[in-house]
Amino acid sequence: KRANLATEHLPSMPRFRESEWDDNIGYFIKKKLRVWCRVPKGQWQLGHIQSTLGAKATVLLLDGTVVKVSTGELQPANPDILEGVDDLIQLSYLNEPSVLHNLQYRYSHDSIYSKAGPVLIAVNPFKAVQCYGKDFVTAYRKKLLNKPHVFAIADTAYNEMMRDEKNQSIIISGESGAGKTETAKVAMQYLAALGGGSGGVESEILQTSSVLEAFGNAKTSRNDNSSRFSRVVQLTHEERSYHIFYQLCAGAPSGLKDRLNLKTASVYNYLNQSDCLVIDDVDDARNFQMLMEAFDTVQISKEDQENAFEMLAAVLWLGNISFQVIDNENHVEVVADEAVTSAARLMGCSTEDLMLALSTHRIKAGKDIFSKKLTLQKAIETRDALAKFIYASLFDWLVEGINKLLALGKRCTGRSISILDIYGFESFKKNSFEQFCINYANERLQQHFNRHLFKLEQEEYESDGIDWTKVDFEDNQVCLDLVEKKPIGLISLLDEESNFPKATDLTFANKLKQHLNGNPCFKGERGGAFSIRHYAGEVLYGTSGFLEKNRDSLHSDTLQLLSSCSCQLPQLFASNMLNQFLKPASPFHHMGVSDSQKQSVGTKFKGQLFKLMQQLESSTPHFIRCIKPNNKQLPGMFENDLVLEQLRCCGVLEVVRISRSGYPTRVTHQEFARRYGFLLSEDHRACQDPLSISVAVLQQFDILPEMYQVGYTKLYFRTGQIAALEDTRKQV
Ligand code: ATP
Ligand code: MG
Repeated sequence: KRANLATEHLPSMPRFRESEWDDNIGYFIKKKLRVWCRVPKGQWQLGHIQSTLGAKATVLLLDGTVVKVSTGELQPANPDILEGVDDLIQLSYLNEPSVLHNLQYRYSHDSIYSKAGPVLIAVNPFKAVQCYGKDFVTAYRKKLLNKPHVFAIADTAYNEMMRDEKNQSIIISGESGAGKTETAKVAMQYLAALGGGSGGVESEILQTSSVLEAFGNAKTSRNDNSSRFSRVVQLTHEERSYHIFYQLCAGAPSGLKDRLNLKTASVYNYLNQSDCLVIDDVDDARNFQMLMEAFDTVQISKEDQENAFEMLAAVLWLGNISFQVIDNENHVEVVADEAVTSAARLMGCSTEDLMLALSTHRIKAGKDIFSKKLTLQKAIETRDALAKFIYASLFDWLVEGINKLLALGKRCTGRSISILDIYGFESFKKNSFEQFCINYANERLQQHFNRHLFKLEQEEYESDGIDWTKVDFEDNQVCLDLVEKKPIGLISLLDEESNFPKATDLTFANKLKQHLNGNPCFKGERGGAFSIRHYAGEVLYGTSGFLEKNRDSLHSDTLQLLSSCSCQLPQLFASNMLNQFLKPASPFHHMGVSDSQKQSVGTKFKGQLFKLMQQLESSTPHFIRCIKPNNKQLPGMFENDLVLEQLRCCGVLEVVRISRSGYPTRVTHQEFARRYGFLLSEDHRACQDPLSISVAVLQQFDILPEMYQVGYTKLYFRTGQIAALEDTRKQV
């Protein structure tokens, strides 16, 4: 619930809505009130309006310069008394420069957490901030502190779980490097501490993130410890693969190294292609020791650990397998060297079988099966797909193991708190299938967020007898329909083209134009591109690679090879993963898994997203939006434009917009009557009860009926309304 404006803090403000700003500039001049002025360089600066002429205003900036700007470049500024408020909603003026200024002011005082109504905003400090110690845990637990904090969110989630006997979810979003994973860990730290005391599940819970990070995180150009997927086979300059590979190579004891035939990281093609083997200030060997301890803590047996390391080494050796072209049609054979023998041994299959699976595909023609040699390109794709598959399965297996461990705790209460650490909205110069999936997921989450927010608002309004129909809002259903609708939605059309042998990315682009041009969120663009109007802005997608990425399937020969391997882990996860490649109802057969039975990546993603949404919808959500204040990972640097962009993308400005469209200032009848009752003229003094006094005040001061509503317990005001009263009050 949003905080009411404490009556003492009611600022001196004119009564107008921001849309009427132009008509009220005169008031700001007369009262010498501060305004935000967008100077020609685009930055917002504080100043005072000196005069206006038509649509031009002369403004004296705080630094003494005088500028002439159009009145459209001015916004009302908040009074000093509201400097650095905990909750943005408390601001009388919720315009962009005011919101930014407030966050920056707090950030410069090491208050990295703020609220925007029910949402917690966390601005990445890129340095250690002293607010996570045991004393802070206790202070939030005992409610001795009520400043915005992840601890406060986690505490609320815990209390609501106990009180309402309902599952809770903490949804953390933001762009890469914004601090989602760190925030998730802070929330876990608090919840683990509640679970309590010495030797309990606390350390187990906390160690799960160490394990997941080793296998799921990697260095990227934007974040040294980025949560990533699918980067096993290809790296960009200055980026690394998953930490675990480097840790294993650097830290494995010699016995293990021998068993895995493990070399240094620089030997492996999957690791050495990006010229980046180490991260500053990171000791991979030491981290391997810590990982082994974490493995023990989360109760992964020594045997399973060893199996997992075998699979990792198998992946590394797979990457070193090379091919030799044997004819002028570019067909290949596998080079029989240390790489292929090591990979085969680690996977538990014969070298011959692995060589065959990587260089030929069996094809069914009627009743006959014959084998066809692969081209170099296809062989490399097959090898890389196998490596990715093994790694993905290993990761899934780990997650499953960890969830089993955590489920032990769940059995006691039957209730859970889920923490979702999800990649935020992305918009680059070039966007492809990956960004499409990410942005689609964010679009769904945004709808969840909006609906929740509006539900909260609506509940409060309705329970207080306020006419809710006067608050309108835009939903993003149209954009979701564009993606999801069957049979004429983007994913359906993509699947259709992916199954059509002659289709190309360009025919796909044309198909989209043909069918989707009527949707207001869609625009066909030149050169096989299209754009989608997302809630956070318009994104241009190139269709290049869409079909192939959507198909991304393992050939049935590779699947068969995997299921015949004798090592422990594949048996454990292969069948489990193979099933995921099939439609849920279809039974798995080793041979003859036809391509049409396989689910496309897009459809699978949509299915997983629906499952996630179901889980979220049956829980009470708590939202945290992480903000990255600069791209250099440096402390003390707050870049306005970068922050503004993120506030827009993660829906914080949306919260602000929603509350603007409603009645953000709320005061109880009693408070209102106590504060303003004495302003009433003689003939109104007969009023006794707070409600009558309040209504009389509103009438006497001509507050327009559309500017407020009277609830059973409170008065509801549009932005900035109370101010004129406050002004009068001060003058009396
Ligand atoms: P990605 O999407 O790439 O996974 P992310 O949002 O999960 O990114 P994090 O890995 O959580 O980002 O944070 C990036 C870095 O920022 C951390 O490694 C840490 O250095 C710093 N950081 C984030 N949050 C905090 C915090 N609360 N206190 C101190 N440093 C932080
Ligand atoms: Mg992360």
